[in-house]
Amino acid sequence: MQLYQNQSLKIYNTLSGDKEVFTPLHEGNVGMYVCGPTVYSNVHLGNCRTFISFDLVFRYLKHLGYKVRYVRNITDVGHMEDDGDEGEDKIAKKARLEKLEPMEIVQQYSVDFHQIMELFNALPPSIEPTATGHIIEQIETIRQIFDNGYAYESSGSVYFDVVKYNESHDYGILSGRNLDDMLSNSRELAGQEQKRNPADFALWKKAGPEHIMRWPSPWGDGFPGWHLECTSMSTKYLGDKFDIHGGGMDLKFPHHECEIAQNEACKGSTPVNYWLHANMLTLNGKKMAKSTGNNILPRELFSGNNNKLEKAFTPSVVRFFMMQAHYRSILDFSNDAIVAAEKGYNRLMEALDTLQGIAPSTNSSLDIGAWKQLCYDAMNDDFNSPILISYLFEAVRYINLLKEGKETLTSADIDDLSKTLHAFIYDVLGLKSETDADSSNDKLEGVVNMLIGMRNEARANKDFGLSDQIRNRLGDLGIELKDSKEGTTFSIN
Ligand code: AMP
Ligand code: ZN
Repeated sequence: MQLYQNQSLKIYNTLSGDKEVFTPLHEGNVGMYVCGPTVYSNVHLGNCRTFISFDLVFRYLKHLGYKVRYVRNITDVGHMEDDGDEGEDKIAKKARLEKLEPMEIVQQYSVDFHQIMELFNALPPSIEPTATGHIIEQIETIRQIFDNGYAYESSGSVYFDVVKYNESHDYGILSGRNLDDMLSNSRELAGQEQKRNPADFALWKKAGPEHIMRWPSPWGDGFPGWHLECTSMSTKYLGDKFDIHGGGMDLKFPHHECEIAQNEACKGSTPVNYWLHANMLTLNGKKMAKSTGNNILPRELFSGNNNKLEKAFTPSVVRFFMMQAHYRSILDFSNDAIVAAEKGYNRLMEALDTLQGIAPSTNSSLDIGAWKQLCYDAMNDDFNSPILISYLFEAVRYINLLKEGKETLTSADIDDLSKTLHAFIYDVLGLKSETDADSSNDKLEGVVNMLIGMRNEARANKDFGLSDQIRNRLGDLGIELKDSKEGTTFSIN
C-alpha cells in the first residue's frame, strides 16, 4: 500500500486554469519534464527558485510513493538573446566575449548549476539531456512537422507556420493569447522578412559562416530553434503522452505554447496532461533577471558578500525562505525577509531537538493523527508548502507545551510526531540540519577514538601486530596518531 492510495493530490493545471485531481497515466508512475537552465552564466536566485519549486514537487510525489521519472534538460544551443529568433545565440555570444569554445562555456556553467543545486539539497533529475546531444531527434521532429504541412523552408531556415496551424488548432491555448492580437501587435523586426508571418517561429536556423555551433541537416548547416529541444527530448524519454510539464511562469509564452504547437503538428496530439508554472522571485518588486542585473547570486548569499545583505545565510535557510511562499505566488527577496526566515528555521530545528528529550506519558492530550492529515491536506492542495509550514509551527507550539508538561503524548505518539516532522522537514521540504556537517565530524572523532582504545588494548595484551596495523591503516587514510605520556591524540591531514 502506497501513500498516494490514501491521499488525494490536486494540482493546478495552467491549461485548464483549475485545480485537478492528479491521476497519472500509468498507476504508480509519474513522468515529469521541467525546462532546465540555459548555461551561459551563473544561475541567479530567481532561476534557483523555479528549480527548487519543482524539487518540492518531485520530492512530494516520491514521498507519496510514486515512481517518478524526472527529466530536466540543459539548454546549450538555440536560445537567442531576445528569447525570439533574432539576435545572437546566448552561449555563442558569451563564448565570443570570453574567447572560449561554446562548449567550455556550457561545461563551466553546467558544473556551477549542479554545484548550486546540490548546495540547495535539490535532488538530481533522473535524466538530464542536452540540446546539442539530441540534434538528430530534433531534425526528425522537424521532418515530421514538415511532412504534416506545418513548416516551410526559407533561405536555409525552417519556420513553423503558426497561421496554418491556427486554422485547425488553437495557438494560444495555454497562454490565453489570441493570434489575431499577436499579429496586429507585432512589430516588423529586422530578420523577420524570411517568415511568412511575424508570429511564425524558427524550428531550424541557418548558420552563417561565422557561426561555430552548427550541424548538417536536410536544409543545410544550421542549429535548432529553442522550443524544439523540449519537444524532442520530453517525448523521447517520457513517451508521446506524459503526466507533468513544468517551468517558470515566463516560459508559458512563447516557449511552452510553441511546444504544444510543435507536438500537435508532429504527433497530432498534445503530450502533457498537467502544465505547472512556478512564479517569479523578485528583487525590489522587479523580476530577478540576468539581463537587467537585478539579481542576487546564491553564492553571494552563502558568503554574505553582497551589499543588499547584512550577513551570510545557509542554503537551508534560503530554501526555507522560498518554501514559505506557495510556488504559484510571487516572492520578493529582501534582507529583512530572509532574516525572518532564518529565525523561523532555527525555531523549527530547535523544536526537533527538544522533542528528543520529551518523556512519554500514559495518555495523549493531542490528536497527532488529525494534525498529520492536515499536513498532508496542505501538500495535497497543489503543494501548498506555506500552509504545511504553518502546521509544522503548530507542532513547534505543542512541543514547547510538552516540554512544560502542559500537554502529554504517549511514546507511540511522540514517535509518530517525530517521524512525521522528519518526513516533512527533511524529505518533502528538502531542508537540512545545519549541524549535519558538525555531527559527521563528531562521528569521525568518535570512530578514531574507538580505534585508539582498541589499539591501547592490543598494546596492553602485547599484540603489537594489531596495534601497528591500526596505526598504519589510519596513517594510510591520512589520520596520524601521536603518543605522549598523557595518552594518544590524532590529527587529520
Ligand atoms: P533560463 O536559464 O533563462 O532558461 O531560465 C531557467 C529557468 O529560470 C526558467 O524556468 C525561468 O522561467 C526561470 N526564471 C528566470 N527568472 C526567474 C525569476 N526571477 N524567478 C523565478 N524563476 C525564474
Ligand atoms: Zn523548455
